[in-house]
Amino acid sequence: MRVGIGYDVHRLVENQKLVLGGVQIPYAKGLLGHSDADVLTHAVCDAILGAAGLGDIGVHFPDTDEAYADVNSLKLLKHVKTLVERDYSFLNVDSTIIAQRPKLAVYIPKMRQQLASTLSVPVDRINVKATTSEGLGFIGKEKAIAAQAIVSLDARH
Ligand code: MG
Repeated sequence: MRVGIGYDVHRLVENQKLVLGGVQIPYAKGLLGHSDADVLTHAVCDAILGAAGLGDIGVHFPDTDEAYADVNSLKLLKHVKTLVERDYSFLNVDSTIIAQRPKLAVYIPKMRQQLASTLSVPVDRINVKATTSEGLGFIGKEKAIAAQAIVSLDARH
């Protein structure tokens, strides 16, 4: 068995859409990035790449590459899956979104569904949690949203 961790943070700004775990969330602000800036999906990608010893998301999808401009990050996750699935199967993913606002609880079931279907695993293998940062620091001041993920993979041979 192998495990990997992922962490990502994106700046929260006006006039951007907010996409977390492949789910577009209605909110006055959104995340700034080269892709759709889906921090949760990026953290999951990095955790998978980490578990497989394949570097990080920046190596595979450089933000200098126009092919990834505004891309739906679930596409990146699908690509990451293809890199590891010959050698590994997915045991589970756990993750935490750290956001002061908006409230995310009602969107979490849909995020789990999106991540699970992208990775072709049952939804009970994907967990998504959300917490605030108690008003402290750059997340608490609503300047950014961050996400952490941990993934375990089972080696096929
Ligand atoms: Mg990112």
